[in-house]
Amino acid sequence: MTRTVYVNGEYLPETEATVSIFDRGFLMADGVYEVTTVLDGKLIDFDGHAKRLSRSLSELEMKEPCTQDELLEIHRKLVEANNVTEGLVYLQVTRGAADRDFAYPADAEPTLVLFTQEKSLAESPAAKSGISVISIPDIRWGRRDIKTVQLLYPSMGKMAAKAAGADDAWMVEDGSVTEGTSNNAYIVKDGVIITRNLSNDILHGITRAAVLRFAQEAQMQVEERPFTIEEAKAADEAFVTSATTFVMPVVKIDDAAIGTGEVGPIASRLREIYIEESRKAAL
Ligand code: PLP
Repeated sequence: MTRTVYVNGEYLPETEATVSIFDRGFLMADGVYEVTTVLDGKLIDFDGHAKRLSRSLSELEMKEPCTQDELLEIHRKLVEANNVTEGLVYLQVTRGAADRDFAYPADAEPTLVLFTQEKSLAESPAAKSGISVISIPDIRWGRRDIKTVQLLYPSMGKMAAKAAGADDAWMVEDGSVTEGTSNNAYIVKDGVIITRNLSNDILHGITRAAVLRFAQEAQMQVEERPFTIEEAKAADEAFVTSATTFVMPVVKIDDAAIGTGEVGPIASRLREIYIEESRKAAL
Protein backbone atom coordinates (compact mmCIF):
# COMPACT_ATOMS: atom_id res chain seq x y z
CA MET A 1 0.00 0.00 0.00
CA THR A 2 1.26 3.47 -0.82
CA ARG A 3 1.46 5.48 2.38
CA THR A 4 0.61 9.11 2.78
CA VAL A 5 3.62 10.96 4.18
CA TYR A 6 4.23 14.55 5.25
CA VAL A 7 6.95 16.79 3.80
CA ASN A 8 7.22 20.52 4.53
CA GLY A 9 3.53 21.36 4.75
CA GLU A 10 2.25 18.79 2.25
CA TYR A 11 0.58 15.40 2.58
CA LEU A 12 1.74 13.29 -0.36
CA PRO A 13 1.90 9.68 -1.56
CA GLU A 14 5.31 8.31 -0.46
CA THR A 15 6.33 7.88 -4.10
CA GLU A 16 5.98 11.62 -4.73
CA ALA A 17 7.64 12.97 -1.58
CA THR A 18 11.10 14.48 -2.10
CA VAL A 19 13.83 16.30 -0.19
CA SER A 20 16.65 18.36 -1.75
CA ILE A 21 20.06 16.76 -2.39
CA PHE A 22 21.47 19.84 -0.62
CA ASP A 23 19.59 19.02 2.57
CA ARG A 24 22.03 19.11 5.51
CA GLY A 25 20.39 16.05 7.00
CA PHE A 26 21.58 14.12 3.93
CA LEU A 27 24.99 15.83 3.60
CA MET A 28 26.01 16.22 7.26
CA ALA A 29 23.60 14.27 9.48
CA ASP A 30 22.52 17.76 10.61
CA GLY A 31 19.14 16.67 11.85
CA VAL A 32 17.18 15.29 14.76
CA TYR A 33 14.31 12.83 15.01
CA GLU A 34 11.62 11.31 17.21
CA VAL A 35 9.71 8.04 17.10
CA THR A 36 6.27 8.04 18.68
CA THR A 37 4.42 4.78 19.20
CA VAL A 38 0.82 4.21 18.09
CA LEU A 39 -1.39 1.80 20.04
CA ASP A 40 -5.13 1.46 19.34
CA GLY A 41 -4.70 4.24 16.75
CA LYS A 42 -3.54 6.67 19.46
CA LEU A 43 -0.21 8.30 20.28
CA ILE A 44 1.84 7.21 23.30
CA ASP A 45 3.55 10.00 25.27
CA PHE A 46 3.28 12.58 22.47
CA ASP A 47 4.01 15.39 24.91
CA GLY A 48 7.31 13.83 26.05
CA HIS A 49 8.51 13.32 22.47
CA ALA A 50 7.52 16.86 21.44
CA LYS A 51 9.38 18.35 24.42
CA ARG A 52 12.52 16.29 23.76
CA LEU A 53 12.38 17.37 20.09
CA SER A 54 12.32 21.03 21.16
CA ARG A 55 15.29 20.43 23.43
CA SER A 56 17.29 18.65 20.66
CA LEU A 57 16.54 21.56 18.28
CA SER A 58 17.53 24.19 20.77
CA GLU A 59 20.80 22.43 21.70
CA LEU A 60 21.73 22.53 17.98
CA GLU A 61 20.45 26.09 17.45
CA MET A 62 17.93 24.82 14.91
CA LYS A 63 14.59 26.52 14.21
CA GLU A 64 11.34 24.92 15.37
CA PRO A 65 9.57 23.90 12.14
CA CYS A 66 6.11 24.45 13.67
CA THR A 67 4.23 24.57 16.97
CA GLN A 68 3.59 21.53 19.20
CA ASP A 69 -0.15 21.72 18.39
CA GLU A 70 0.60 21.66 14.66
CA LEU A 71 2.91 18.66 15.18
CA LEU A 72 0.17 16.81 17.02
CA GLU A 73 -2.25 17.52 14.19
CA ILE A 74 0.22 16.18 11.59
CA HIS A 75 0.78 13.01 13.64
CA ARG A 76 -2.96 12.45 13.96
CA LYS A 77 -3.68 13.12 10.28
CA LEU A 78 -1.02 10.61 9.20
CA VAL A 79 -2.25 7.93 11.62
CA GLU A 80 -5.77 8.42 10.25
CA ALA A 81 -4.80 8.65 6.56
CA ASN A 82 -2.78 5.43 6.81
CA ASN A 83 -5.20 3.60 9.10
CA VAL A 84 -2.49 2.79 11.62
CA THR A 85 -3.79 0.95 14.66
CA GLU A 86 -0.41 -0.24 15.92
CA GLY A 87 3.02 0.98 14.87
CA LEU A 88 4.89 4.24 14.91
CA VAL A 89 5.18 7.77 13.58
CA TYR A 90 8.71 8.77 12.57
CA LEU A 91 9.52 12.48 12.56
CA GLN A 92 12.70 14.14 11.33
CA VAL A 93 13.73 17.79 11.32
CA THR A 94 16.89 18.93 9.56
CA ARG A 95 18.52 22.34 9.34
CA GLY A 96 17.34 22.45 5.73
CA ALA A 97 18.90 22.82 2.28
CA ALA A 98 21.83 25.15 1.57
CA ASP A 99 25.11 25.17 -0.35
CA ARG A 100 27.46 22.72 1.35
CA ASP A 101 29.42 24.43 4.12
CA PHE A 102 30.40 23.35 7.62
CA ALA A 103 29.09 26.60 9.12
CA TYR A 104 25.33 26.69 9.70
CA PRO A 105 23.52 28.59 6.91
CA ALA A 106 21.95 31.83 8.13
CA ASP A 107 18.72 31.58 6.17
CA ALA A 108 17.84 27.90 5.57
CA GLU A 109 14.31 26.80 6.45
CA PRO A 110 14.12 23.55 8.44
CA THR A 111 12.97 20.43 6.60
CA LEU A 112 10.15 18.54 8.35
CA VAL A 113 9.36 14.97 7.32
CA LEU A 114 6.96 12.50 8.97
CA PHE A 115 5.86 9.02 7.98
CA THR A 116 4.13 6.08 9.61
CA GLN A 117 5.12 2.41 9.88
CA GLU A 118 2.67 -0.30 10.89
CA LYS A 119 4.11 -2.83 13.29
CA SER A 120 2.80 -5.28 15.84
CA LEU A 121 4.29 -4.12 19.14
CA ALA A 122 2.27 -5.12 22.20
CA GLU A 123 2.14 -8.84 21.37
CA SER A 124 5.83 -9.65 21.14
CA PRO A 125 7.31 -13.16 21.15
CA ALA A 126 10.69 -11.62 22.13
CA ALA A 127 9.13 -10.17 25.28
CA LYS A 128 8.16 -13.71 26.35
CA SER A 129 11.54 -15.33 25.63
CA GLY A 130 13.77 -12.35 26.43
CA ILE A 131 16.58 -11.13 24.18
CA SER A 132 20.36 -11.61 24.21
CA VAL A 133 22.87 -8.75 23.99
CA ILE A 134 26.60 -8.47 23.40
CA SER A 135 28.77 -5.74 24.90
CA ILE A 136 30.65 -3.36 22.60
CA PRO A 137 32.72 -0.24 23.31
CA ASP A 138 30.79 3.03 23.23
CA ILE A 139 32.71 5.15 20.72
CA ARG A 140 29.89 7.63 19.95
CA TRP A 141 30.27 11.40 20.32
CA GLY A 142 29.76 13.14 23.67
CA ARG A 143 26.25 14.59 23.11
CA ARG A 144 24.16 11.43 23.18
CA ASP A 145 21.42 13.39 24.95
CA ILE A 146 20.59 15.02 21.57
CA LYS A 147 18.54 12.67 19.39
CA THR A 148 20.44 13.20 16.14
CA VAL A 149 20.19 11.12 12.97
CA GLN A 150 23.87 10.05 13.30
CA LEU A 151 22.96 6.39 13.69
CA LEU A 152 25.83 4.66 11.93
CA TYR A 153 27.54 3.36 15.07
CA PRO A 154 24.29 1.97 16.53
CA SER A 155 23.70 0.29 13.14
CA MET A 156 27.19 -1.23 13.31
CA GLY A 157 26.42 -2.40 16.85
CA LYS A 158 23.24 -4.16 15.70
CA MET A 159 25.20 -5.82 12.88
CA ALA A 160 27.92 -6.97 15.32
CA ALA A 161 25.15 -8.43 17.51
CA LYS A 162 23.62 -10.21 14.54
CA ALA A 163 27.00 -11.62 13.49
CA ALA A 164 27.46 -12.97 17.05
CA GLY A 165 24.00 -14.58 17.00
CA ALA A 166 22.62 -12.03 19.51
CA ASP A 167 19.70 -9.61 19.30
CA ASP A 168 21.28 -6.31 20.30
CA ALA A 169 24.33 -4.66 21.86
CA TRP A 170 24.95 -2.75 25.09
CA MET A 171 27.61 -0.07 24.86
CA VAL A 172 30.30 0.18 27.51
CA GLU A 173 32.44 3.19 28.40
CA ASP A 174 35.10 3.16 31.15
CA GLY A 175 33.77 -0.21 32.29
CA SER A 176 30.17 1.01 32.74
CA VAL A 177 27.16 0.41 30.52
CA THR A 178 25.91 3.59 28.88
CA GLU A 179 22.85 2.26 27.01
CA GLY A 180 21.69 -0.12 24.30
CA THR A 181 22.10 0.75 20.60
CA SER A 182 18.52 2.06 20.51
CA ASN A 183 17.27 1.73 24.08
CA ASN A 184 18.06 2.46 27.72
CA ALA A 185 19.60 -0.34 29.81
CA TYR A 186 18.63 -1.60 33.28
CA ILE A 187 19.58 -4.34 35.71
CA VAL A 188 17.81 -5.63 38.80
CA LYS A 189 19.77 -6.77 41.86
CA ASP A 190 18.16 -7.83 45.17
CA GLY A 191 14.89 -6.20 44.10
CA VAL A 192 16.48 -2.84 43.20
CA ILE A 193 16.12 -1.51 39.64
CA ILE A 194 19.40 0.11 38.58
CA THR A 195 19.78 2.32 35.50
CA ARG A 196 22.36 4.90 34.49
CA ASN A 197 21.63 8.45 35.68
CA LEU A 198 20.77 11.12 33.09
CA SER A 199 23.66 13.12 31.63
CA ASN A 200 25.05 13.91 28.16
CA ASP A 201 26.28 10.27 28.04
CA ILE A 202 22.87 8.79 27.22
CA LEU A 203 19.62 9.62 25.48
CA HIS A 204 16.98 10.73 27.97
CA GLY A 205 14.47 8.05 27.05
CA ILE A 206 10.82 9.02 27.13
CA THR A 207 9.97 5.40 27.95
CA ARG A 208 12.64 5.45 30.68
CA ALA A 209 10.97 8.42 32.39
CA ALA A 210 7.55 6.72 32.30
CA VAL A 211 8.85 3.32 33.43
CA LEU A 212 10.76 4.80 36.39
CA ARG A 213 7.63 6.70 37.40
CA PHE A 214 5.49 3.54 37.22
CA ALA A 215 8.13 1.55 39.13
CA GLN A 216 8.11 4.08 41.95
CA GLU A 217 4.30 4.19 42.00
CA ALA A 218 4.35 0.38 42.36
CA GLN A 219 6.70 0.78 45.40
CA MET A 220 9.64 -0.71 43.51
CA GLN A 221 13.08 0.57 44.50
CA VAL A 222 15.01 2.51 41.85
CA GLU A 223 18.68 3.59 41.82
CA GLU A 224 19.91 5.90 39.06
CA ARG A 225 23.68 5.35 38.77
CA PRO A 226 26.22 3.84 36.39
CA PHE A 227 26.66 0.05 36.63
CA THR A 228 29.53 -2.03 35.28
CA ILE A 229 29.21 -4.75 32.68
CA GLU A 230 30.38 -7.27 35.32
CA GLU A 231 27.61 -6.12 37.65
CA ALA A 232 25.15 -6.59 34.79
CA LYS A 233 26.32 -10.14 34.12
CA ALA A 234 25.84 -11.00 37.80
CA ALA A 235 22.40 -9.32 38.03
CA ASP A 236 19.13 -11.10 38.86
CA GLU A 237 17.37 -9.53 35.86
CA ALA A 238 18.11 -7.16 33.01
CA PHE A 239 15.95 -5.28 30.52
CA VAL A 240 15.85 -2.39 28.05
CA THR A 241 13.23 0.26 27.33
CA SER A 242 12.33 2.23 24.20
CA ALA A 243 9.24 3.71 22.59
CA THR A 244 8.66 0.76 20.26
CA THR A 245 9.83 -2.14 22.47
CA PHE A 246 8.35 -0.80 25.75
CA VAL A 247 10.05 -2.95 28.41
CA MET A 248 12.04 -5.80 26.82
CA PRO A 249 13.67 -8.43 29.07
CA VAL A 250 17.34 -9.30 28.50
CA VAL A 251 18.26 -12.87 29.47
CA LYS A 252 21.85 -13.10 28.24
CA ILE A 253 24.79 -10.67 28.15
CA ASP A 254 27.79 -11.93 26.15
CA ASP A 255 28.12 -15.52 27.41
CA ALA A 256 26.47 -14.96 30.79
CA ALA A 257 22.90 -16.05 31.47
CA ILE A 258 21.14 -13.39 33.58
CA GLY A 259 19.55 -14.73 36.76
CA THR A 260 17.73 -17.95 35.89
CA GLY A 261 18.26 -17.29 32.18
CA GLU A 262 14.53 -16.67 31.83
CA VAL A 263 12.39 -13.53 31.83
CA GLY A 264 12.29 -12.12 35.37
CA PRO A 265 9.22 -11.02 37.37
CA ILE A 266 10.14 -7.33 37.65
CA ALA A 267 10.72 -6.86 33.90
CA SER A 268 7.50 -8.67 33.00
CA ARG A 269 5.46 -6.75 35.59
CA LEU A 270 6.89 -3.42 34.39
CA ARG A 271 6.04 -4.31 30.79
CA GLU A 272 2.44 -5.04 31.75
CA ILE A 273 2.08 -1.84 33.77
CA TYR A 274 3.74 0.27 31.05
CA ILE A 275 1.48 -1.02 28.27
CA GLU A 276 -1.66 -0.74 30.39
CA GLU A 277 -0.95 2.80 31.64
CA SER A 278 0.25 4.00 28.22
CA ARG A 279 -2.94 2.79 26.56
CA LYS A 280 -4.98 4.70 29.16
CA ALA A 281 -3.05 7.95 28.67
CA ALA A 282 -2.77 7.73 24.84
CA LEU A 283 -3.94 10.74 22.81
N1 PLP B 1 18.82 5.31 23.84
C1 PLP B 1 19.04 5.38 22.51
C2 PLP B 1 20.46 5.44 22.02
C3 PLP B 1 17.97 5.37 21.61
O1 PLP B 1 18.21 5.43 20.28
C4 PLP B 1 16.65 5.27 22.11
C5 PLP B 1 15.48 5.27 21.20
O2 PLP B 1 15.61 5.36 20.02
C6 PLP B 1 16.45 5.19 23.50
C7 PLP B 1 17.56 5.23 24.33
C8 PLP B 1 15.08 5.08 24.10
O3 PLP B 1 14.39 6.30 24.02
P1 PLP B 1 12.79 6.35 23.97
O4 PLP B 1 12.33 5.62 25.20
O5 PLP B 1 12.48 7.80 24.03
O6 PLP B 1 12.37 5.67 22.72
